[in-house]
Amino acid sequence: MRTRKYSEQKGKCFVCHKPMELMQTQLAHRVPQSKINLDKYSKPVIHHEDNLRLVCSLKCNAAVLVRPGSIGETDLMLSIEKKLGIVGLRRKIRQKMPNIYNKNGHN
Ligand SMILES: [Zn+2]
Repeated sequence: MRTRKYSEQKGKCFVCHKPMELMQTQLAHRVPQSKINLDKYSKPVIHHEDNLRLVCSLKCNAAVLVRPGSIGETDLMLSIEKKLGIVGLRRKIRQKMPNIYNKNGHN
């Protein structure tokens, strides 16, 4: 994945466009791989290449973050779910764990 992203981004940082050595790169998640997000969207979505960018530093890593709960997050996650053909998976998870998802009054 790292090598593929590296050639895709022509060896440059996604944020500041500085040329990078492959060994120095960081794979940054746009929607972070927190437990909440992994439960909500599932691993294949969070670790999908569309959710990853190759960056040169922690500073640039922070800059690729999508704001939590934003439309950008929903759009990105939905487009990856479509690519993976798992739209609606969240609903299935919700049915399996109603006590978690019913807490805040959503169906
Ligand atoms: Zn950078």
